Amino acid sequence: MERTAVKRNILLNPGPSTTTDTVKYAQVVPDICPREREFVEIMREMKRDLLRVVEADPKRYAAVLFCGSGTLNIDACVSSLLPEGKKILVVNNGSYSARAAEAARYYDLDLVELTLPTDRPVDVKSVAEALEREKDVAVVYACMHETGTGILNPVREIGELAHAHNAVMVADTTSAYALLPFTVEEENLDFIMASAQKGLMSMTGLSFVIGRKDVLEASKDYPKRSYYSNLYLQYSFLRDKGEMHFTPPVQTIYATRQALAEFFDEGIEKKSARHRNVWTALRDGALSRGFKIAFPEEYMAKLVLPVLYPDTLDSDGAHYGEDAPGEPFDFFQFHDALYDKGFTIYPGKVADTPTFRLCSLGAIDVEDIDAFYRAVDEILEETR
Ligand SMILES: *Cc1c(COP(=O)(O)O)cnc(C)c1O
Repeated sequence: MERTAVKRNILLNPGPSTTTDTVKYAQVVPDICPREREFVEIMREMKRDLLRVVEADPKRYAAVLFCGSGTLNIDACVSSLLPEGKKILVVNNGSYSARAAEAARYYDLDLVELTLPTDRPVDVKSVAEALEREKDVAVVYACMHETGTGILNPVREIGELAHAHNAVMVADTTSAYALLPFTVEEENLDFIMASAQKGLMSMTGLSFVIGRKDVLEASKDYPKRSYYSNLYLQYSFLRDKGEMHFTPPVQTIYATRQALAEFFDEGIEKKSARHRNVWTALRDGALSRGFKIAFPEEYMAKLVLPVLYPDTLDSDGAHYGEDAPGEPFDFFQFHDALYDKGFTIYPGKVADTPTFRLCSLGAIDVEDIDAFYRAVDEILEETR
């Protein structure tokens, strides 16, 4: 088959990310019914490979796949893992952990929401205090990398506390999986989650939870709060039949198979170093143009760069301070001008502080960031 190169856009939003053409073209396959043995075999390999990314032992952990975006994983973990009469502690220091708390409220769970400042990593001491104070916490939930702010949370310490209180540790690792080198056991994580379009650099539509089999088995008897997103129902179907319960995202699964092959080819050490280099290039380019970064570097996972809006731009580039000359910074105008040049930037999610985000996910490298800043300079020149 003749394959032409697809126009390459540089996505600096927090996923879906820029993909390789080989991943894009992996979707173009002969039509197949996903109930066929051939497809079941692909699923079997995929479940194994998804575990390998975080060195999850297949004897102890299973991958539970869903057709949907990453929020379905949050929904599944929150609704499926809480035994009757027990509490879920959601450690909330950003918009993604807030989403888990919202889901817990939707299901009327006995929720302990520990609301912490969003401008810094979780203070482990406050989690310890909450676990001392609250009896009957069976699930502790935190977000590893808060994609809205770019802040990296100490999930290893939170997991240790959860285990000391006999609770199951659930971490939203959607924007850390296949991006940062970590393993489930070292990080004390019983359940993690991600979706194919983020760290794996595949397409949207496939999301997955990786979790402890003994807990999944025990959850068979927990209250059922959802049908489509019940973890046990999907886990047991995959275990017994090797298939997803309902129609899987067939083409995305083919793309993800290719993406996983490319992931293991590159290797997590090299891949995370590449993302780090891209992040550093994004940071250096922003700083040298007078932009400021919202948080201290040591707080961040170095995958998402939260850039403060300049109040105004003057002839030296970005200028802060309300009395500065020039027009106020118009994010959407800046976004649109960049979009026309093939670069996508993204609004921020930092409470009360106007920021935009530049993310280093995806099949991109430092040269792409050089090209990005050439485009930025042209736009700043024009709007001056
Ligand atoms: C992307 C992301 C999700 C999932 O968001 P969707 O909009 O459902 O794709 C969940 N948690 C984190 C931390 C994320 O970055």
